[in-house]
Amino acid sequence: MTGIVVEKVTRHFAGQPVLKGVSLAVAAGEFVALVGPSGCGKSTLMRLIAGIDRPDGGRILINGRDVTALRPAARNVAMVFQSYALYPHLTVAENIAVPLSMRRMGVAQRLPLIGRIWPGSRAARRGIAEDVRSAALALGLTNLLERRPSQLSGGQRQRVALARAIVRQPAAFLMDEPLSNLDAALRVHTRREIVEIHRRAGAATLYVTHDQSEALTMADRVAVMQAGEILQVASPRAIYADPDDLRVATFIGSPR
Ligand code: ADP
Ligand code: MG
Repeated sequence: MTGIVVEKVTRHFAGQPVLKGVSLAVAAGEFVALVGPSGCGKSTLMRLIAGIDRPDGGRILINGRDVTALRPAARNVAMVFQSYALYPHLTVAENIAVPLSMRRMGVAQRLPLIGRIWPGSRAARRGIAEDVRSAALALGLTNLLERRPSQLSGGQRQRVALARAIVRQPAAFLMDEPLSNLDAALRVHTRREIVEIHRRAGAATLYVTHDQSEALTMADRVAVMQAGEILQVASPRAIYADPDDLRVATFIGSPR
């Protein structure tokens, strides 16, 4: 299957099970919201899919390829966090270009690169500049390309983080509460942009949120997680109107 497949993934911390055999599939083109109480394991699962952390058991596949043992850059996934994690000494254009430059280089070359001139042939640099320009255009950042992060608003910084995520045209987007630092009006606006980016990319998107209205309005399906387990995965309507389980009903606040 194309997209993200998580099969019976387990993860323990200090002997405590944090993920208890999680299975979840997000098809290419599908937007799945992952919801659940704080501490239930959402961010842990996202880190495992991104490759920042490794599971104790189970497998992770991206577009049919087993990536469980691969480093993050080899997985064809992009992750957007709540904290924007931009490089303060790089311009907006350079921040957006980071994943492209990383892909072209070996590990040993990466560190000295940050904050210096991008390496490679003139053609490679031109390719990077074009990719950066089209990602910036998609997020309305073309007038800000030469600024530093400190010269941007919170909303603009988050758009740079989103541009950096789409620039590699990944097979999967992983977003962990990307809007929770934005004010309410901006959040609603950026929601639409994220769904639009997802549609245009045709990617598999897994989107963690603690905001029920985000989950119910943005997602094709909602996955409800509790205490390291996925309780139900269904359409927003089904989750709300026909919860499988009292724990789902209680969490979503549906009438049952
Ligand atoms: P969520 O994102 O759903 O709020 P997390 O995945 O961040 O939850 O955390 C799930 C549980 O795993 C929490 O109890 C947290 O304390 C624990 N945990 C997460 N990462 C680590 C870690 N690196 N070391 C120890 N415990 C961790
Ligand atoms: Mg979290």
